[in-house]
Amino acid sequence: MNILDGKLVSKKIQEEIKKQVVTLSKKPCLLVILVGNDQASQIYVSSKEKACKRVGMESKTIILDENVSQKEVIKVIQKANEDKNINGILVQLPLPNHMDAKAVVGAIDPMKDVDGLHAYNQGKLMLGEPGIIPCTPKGVMRLLSEYHVDLAGKNALVIGRSILVGKPVAQLLLNKNATVTIAHSKTKDLKELCLNMDIIVCAVGKPKTITEDMVKEGAVIIDVGINRVLGTLVGDVDYLSVAPKTSRITPVPGGVGPMTIACLLENVLECYELQNQ
Ligand code: NAP
Repeated sequence: MNILDGKLVSKKIQEEIKKQVVTLSKKPCLLVILVGNDQASQIYVSSKEKACKRVGMESKTIILDENVSQKEVIKVIQKANEDKNINGILVQLPLPNHMDAKAVVGAIDPMKDVDGLHAYNQGKLMLGEPGIIPCTPKGVMRLLSEYHVDLAGKNALVIGRSILVGKPVAQLLLNKNATVTIAHSKTKDLKELCLNMDIIVCAVGKPKTITEDMVKEGAVIIDVGINRVLGTLVGDVDYLSVAPKTSRITPVPGGVGPMTIACLLENVLECYELQNQ
């Protein structure tokens, strides 16, 4: 089997976290702030609450009205920054259009920034210094390392350049000595680029971005995308046709998704430790 089994590795990480949490004098607590009533966001928030519970952590969710002002959201964050009982703060994205996500995330205390999206933590990542690493990129790297995928000197392509996924993944691969290329919506001849790659991380959000004719024999494929097609979850990669050509590939679901959750819990624990040194 050439599957990179995110579900399995995530379970293992969560068991490790659970063991660590019971040794702590206090339960780490994650605060999730949800603005509006987007259904997908509600599902993500509820899965984060459940994950906290599974490993013995506490979680709190504050739901704010869709029309709340940015100032009001920042006030809630500032209060949570001061609250010693809250170790991690996560603002569920996307935010309504009238808000500037950078300003909102920028209000989070970097030591409580479990999503690793604050400029401080993004800067630390760029410098290759310890900091809070965004959960999905961290999950991608952990999965590669669990399966001993050798990165040094390998040609790696990251498709997508968001600060949530693409850019941090590219930086982390670079930190591991891969030769990294980043593609985006303006990239010309994606197929030609892909055919030269040992590793492809696809974080676009469009089904069939990667098809069988774009992948070289033995490549490693990480599919970050989550798309709903006719009620079914699929990734960005045309899995059935691509998988036989690869040496390793993540399924969707069961690949990067569960790793994101596990790494979020790891980040809550890291924040807790930073605050209790
Ligand atoms: P995003 O902010 O919308 O970024 C998408 C990126 O894809 C952009 O950089 C865009 O380029 C690029 N792109 C769009 N069309 C393209 C094309 N035809 N060819 C090459 N690049 C193209 O999305 P995101 O937040 O990074 O998320 C990406 C996907 O990952 C989504 O499906 C999301 O749901 C999923 N996701 C999954 C997890 C998980 O845990 N599995 C976590 C986070 C996100 P431009 O910059 O030029 O616009």
